[in-house]
Amino acid sequence: MRVPPGVSPGDFAAAIKQFEAAVGKEWVFTSDDDVELYRDSYSPFWHEEEDRVPSAAVAPDGVEQAQAIVKIANAYKIPLWTISTGRNLAYGGSSPALSGSVILDLKRMNRILEVSDKNHYALVEPGVSYFDLYRYIQEHKLKVWIDPPDPGWGSPVGNSLERGGGRGPLHDHFATVCGMEVVLPNGEVMRTGMGALPGSKTWQQYKYGFGPYVDGLFSQSNFGIVTKMGVWLLPEPEAYRDGTVMVARHDDLVPFVETLAYLYNSQIVQGTAALDSPLLTYRVSKGGGVVDLPGDISVAELERIGREQNIPYWSSELHFYGPAKVVDLQWEFTKERFSAIPGVTFKEGRSYRFPVELKDSDDVLRQALGIPNLSVFGFLGKTLGHMDFSPIVPLSGEAVFEALKVFGEVYHEMGVPPQNQFISLPWAFFPRAFVFLFGFQIMHDVEANKRNREVFRRLIEACAEHGWGEYRTHVAYMDDVANVYSYNNHAMLRLHETVKDALDPNGILSPGKSGIWPKRLRKARA
Ligand code: ADP
Repeated sequence: MRVPPGVSPGDFAAAIKQFEAAVGKEWVFTSDDDVELYRDSYSPFWHEEEDRVPSAAVAPDGVEQAQAIVKIANAYKIPLWTISTGRNLAYGGSSPALSGSVILDLKRMNRILEVSDKNHYALVEPGVSYFDLYRYIQEHKLKVWIDPPDPGWGSPVGNSLERGGGRGPLHDHFATVCGMEVVLPNGEVMRTGMGALPGSKTWQQYKYGFGPYVDGLFSQSNFGIVTKMGVWLLPEPEAYRDGTVMVARHDDLVPFVETLAYLYNSQIVQGTAALDSPLLTYRVSKGGGVVDLPGDISVAELERIGREQNIPYWSSELHFYGPAKVVDLQWEFTKERFSAIPGVTFKEGRSYRFPVELKDSDDVLRQALGIPNLSVFGFLGKTLGHMDFSPIVPLSGEAVFEALKVFGEVYHEMGVPPQNQFISLPWAFFPRAFVFLFGFQIMHDVEANKRNREVFRRLIEACAEHGWGEYRTHVAYMDDVANVYSYNNHAMLRLHETVKDALDPNGILSPGKSGIWPKRLRKARA
């Protein structure tokens, strides 16, 4: 059996016995077959020494059991890696940043404690999945919507803590968090926001409580174990509609994104908006790439092809939710604003009144309509899996041009062929910013994975040189990404580690998460 670093086999065996006494023998997993399930199936280190492998897993059924595990871990200095539903697709799955960590699997804590369809929020435990919450709402005929990520198999707690997103109006999931219960590294239970007031009547209704707002300390962090979380939901809207805006020329992107930003930040356009390029998609179908490779086809030539074939350069499908009258007006107003761009064209999209029966062809739309599903796997093709590189860039056309040029230079320098350029155009996924999503394919091929890791690391550096940083990353790159957030000699990382040492002197919670290492393991930084 693998043991955590620095822990003797004897101590580990004693700790395992105590875990078993705390949660029941059947909820402590030590066999190779069981532990294997917690590895990242899409690890970029497949069959290599550095692959992150846990030593065991333990699954408590409630807060008291979680506290008991934390106390045992403190006594033996055993690193625990907390997961909720453990999907974390493309960012490491349920695998830890530090091999030998014991997975603290909260799947059994799956109670839906409250759903309000009068003031539109829920209070859930970490093991509740988006599917569970959706089913509960349907069964109880509640008039609220959730905003699942794609795929919808994860949890509101895990996804929100990682600052993931959905596609509907509540897509910025951490922004929907209202009130947490947290087991601190010393085993104490704390509630944030109004939850700090015993008997509070507004824990899920007012975020800030009194004094410093600490909820952010528990997202993408290793400062606590979140055991309950409030999330805001959307009142079930009366109607949905979408429509597509298209512009013909390369430079039209600048006023296009400016208009999008105005509409998005005014909350007229809701949900996420992905930038698309029918012309670049056409080019990809002919064996070209999306990025600007040095010496590649010129913009004028591409525009000529676009004119001849009647293919717009840029487009975006926009989404509207609310009363039927209002969404119609929002789309009308959107068209009016975009009409300032010469030659703009529009395509009328889908229109629904709720509740609605969706046809099979609307697979992708399901997430946008608040229905969790796994259809995204149908679009990922036949690849084994992927890991995402996801830099945040400004919400502007100029930034997109610059990014495509920078990525092109990196690909050129690293010799990445056009058919392996794993990039989509950016999404307005979070308010006021674009995020690019690069789905790096993971293969059962050590050399190909090594090469992809080099490209991934070079992209982190190149982005940082241009002022762009990742919103989240795979466990394998947490040190690399934390390292580029280096303003004033890593002042932020130093603050994180000061907090870490104060709260978690034995360094037991998720060592290495987001590049934050406890003092005793700090030399482990890559
Ligand atoms: P999901 O299954 O929703 O994709 P995960 O359960 O895989 O989410 O969680 C994603 C990441 O968030 C984990 O790797 C962990 O670092 C962090 N995390 C998840 N749940 C908790 C929790 N309850 N408390 C603290 N951190 C958590």
